[in-house]
Amino acid sequence: MSLRNDLTHHVTEVLACRKCTGMIGPVVTSRPSVSKVYLVGQAPGPHEGKFGQPFAWTAGKTLFKWFSTLGIDEETFRSRVFMAAVCRCFPGKAPGGGDRVPARDEVEACSGWMRREIELLKPGLIVPIGRLAIERFLEPAPLADLIGKTHRTSTFGHACDLIPLPHPSGASTWYKVEPGISLLQKALKLLGRHPAWAEIRNPNLEIRNKLQ
Ligand code: SF4
Repeated sequence: MSLRNDLTHHVTEVLACRKCTGMIGPVVTSRPSVSKVYLVGQAPGPHEGKFGQPFAWTAGKTLFKWFSTLGIDEETFRSRVFMAAVCRCFPGKAPGGGDRVPARDEVEACSGWMRREIELLKPGLIVPIGRLAIERFLEPAPLADLIGKTHRTSTFGHACDLIPLPHPSGASTWYKVEPGISLLQKALKLLGRHPAWAEIRNPNLEIRNKLQ
């Protein structure tokens, strides 16, 4: 079976997952994009389920605006990058407002999907978006100490680079004021120069992936 077929089968299994009874859902996950770039969001918001794809609402608009400065549009990005998340279901609203942060057991339950994706794709670059995703891979620290750098990580036995980005939520002020403005620009520059990123911009990528 080809890698594309394995991923397609995997995505079908993820979409049928009902492991977490406390999640609102539905399951939202990536297209089966064969890629050396593995993006990791936190969890879908209340609107993503309608569209059936991650980052399909306002935060996504900001995220894809950032990526457009690196020469890649939304449709190309979605077809060339595997867009994972710490949890693949909308967790519901928190009592104090905002989206509920997934519980530890929910993160643990969903990490089985992440493990399989990393084993299949063997990414050269992981791009975690927002604190929950960043702390899935790196020790907790102020965002200013983590963003704007390339980290080396080993996850599920696979070693690769990791370039974190802040969450593009409109409710976040971190990336709108210094040092967030400058650190975001630094992180985007690092992304644009990374060999795995250069690969997703390769015009012959689809042809090569069809052969895998
Ligand atoms: S959060 Fe993940 S493990 Fe839990 S039900 Fe959704 S897809 Fe399954």
